[in-house]
Amino acid sequence: MSEDGLPPLREVIARHGLDARKGLGQNFLFDLNLTRRIARSAAPLSASTVVEIGPGPGGLTRALLLEGARKIVAVEKDTRALPALQEIAAHYPGRLEIVEADALRYDWTAHITGDAKIVANLPYNIATPLLTGWLTGPWPPWFSSLTLMFQKEVAERIVAAPGSEAYGRLSIISQWCASAKKLFDIDRRAFTPPPKITSSVVQLIPKSERLPACTISVLEKVTAAAFGQRRKMLRSSLKSLHPDMSKLLDGLGIDANLRAEQLAVADFARIAASLESDPV
Ligand code: SAM
Repeated sequence: MSEDGLPPLREVIARHGLDARKGLGQNFLFDLNLTRRIARSAAPLSASTVVEIGPGPGGLTRALLLEGARKIVAVEKDTRALPALQEIAAHYPGRLEIVEADALRYDWTAHITGDAKIVANLPYNIATPLLTGWLTGPWPPWFSSLTLMFQKEVAERIVAAPGSEAYGRLSIISQWCASAKKLFDIDRRAFTPPPKITSSVVQLIPKSERLPACTISVLEKVTAAAFGQRRKMLRSSLKSLHPDMSKLLDGLGIDANLRAEQLAVADFARIAASLESDPV
């Protein structure tokens, strides 16, 4: 028995035939010290609904419960994992709700009420679309924090500062919507099976307002154009968005000779807002 009185995860996986499937991004964490560390990073857990994406055999779920989560909604696509999760739910009556669904298509606001914290060891193949989907949804959002595991390279893009190699579209959208911090790395060998590279836990706390205000689709157009040709100066990379881009940038006090990676997050949002108020 483990310290929560439930069978060890390796036994759960063997008993339920949960061999890891690559297509579902399944890299399981067995080490309770690590899963508890992730759970603690999202503390306090007792005043919110904890939403976990991809509980799989339930390693992180069990850590969240041990760390005091009062109510977890766990969304899993792999039906093979459901019996194992039901055993956990039976062990913690009323504290674990299991939802069989594709997290990419799930209607969060229709199902989750009150304060919610998302905590997950995300399936790598859909980690970025899940994050951007949450960040580009209605605002203020339905969650008050996101504590998520990504591939290290994706984590670095989320938190990257201007001037760095990793700074790009994902940094802009993440930091326009939230304050983002990389908390710690987890060695690939901690997972079963081990993925190719190191993972990192990132925490994002949504801002009450996304400022400077602009329309997300326009902001995305600007960042796509700017970073699509990241070595070019803005007057050239953004040229297709406005007949007189140099003048528009000049009006904002932004040097048109800068390149995308030299521009602050707020400046991208100001360009988007200006394009909206001065449409072509
Ligand atoms: N939470 C477990 C852990 O930490 O050991 C498993 C994490 S594993 C990296 C990702 C989990 O996400 C798997 O259980 C997988 O089946 C699930 N998953 C993959 N795609 C999904 C989707 N579209 N919606 C919900 N869950 C998904």
